[in-house]
Amino acid sequence: MERIDWKQYFIATSFLLSSRSTCTRLAVGATIVRDKRIIAGGYNGSIAGGEHCIDKGCYVVDGHCVRTIHAEMNAILQCAKFGVPTEGAEIYVTHFPCLPCTKSIIQAGIRKIYYAEDYRNNLFALELLKEAGVSVEKVDFDWKHLTNVIAERQREIENKHRESARSSSTDSSSK
Ligand SMILES: [Zn+2]
Ligand SMILES: [Zn+2]
Repeated sequence: MERIDWKQYFIATSFLLSSRSTCTRLAVGATIVRDKRIIAGGYNGSIAGGEHCIDKGCYVVDGHCVRTIHAEMNAILQCAKFGVPTEGAEIYVTHFPCLPCTKSIIQAGIRKIYYAEDYRNNLFALELLKEAGVSVEKVDFDWKHLTNVIAERQREIENKHRESARSSSTDSSSK
């Protein structure tokens, strides 16, 4: 039976979060992890109780939608809100973070960024990450493989249950 590895698991979690995004321009998800435990997650969306881009349209200034808080910031702010340390943590994001998010990630003490998709990768952000010693790794994420693994495992488990039900029914009839 195949198990997916941690990187695929946390990136998948970020993609799942991105499906909650309320912005129509880009759906981003971010997952903050410490010691292989998820401590926070976020997606790009309006402030709590605010109007959503999907209902009102994006609020675009200088080519950026300013209505939303980015996924990475939402995840970091969730830690701030509940008093969860981010020092030494890792962040898994669906898309390469923008410059302001990169600065916040560095300042929050996060030590490693995993991302799936290149997105306007900012040169100054890369420079800052290098200076701060924060490592960056692109993860080759394959949804199809993941859904196949899930389906295959469910099938194997169902088959096992069916087999054990069959053998227990033959056991009782032979008695
Ligand atoms: Zn928007
Ligand atoms: Zn950002």
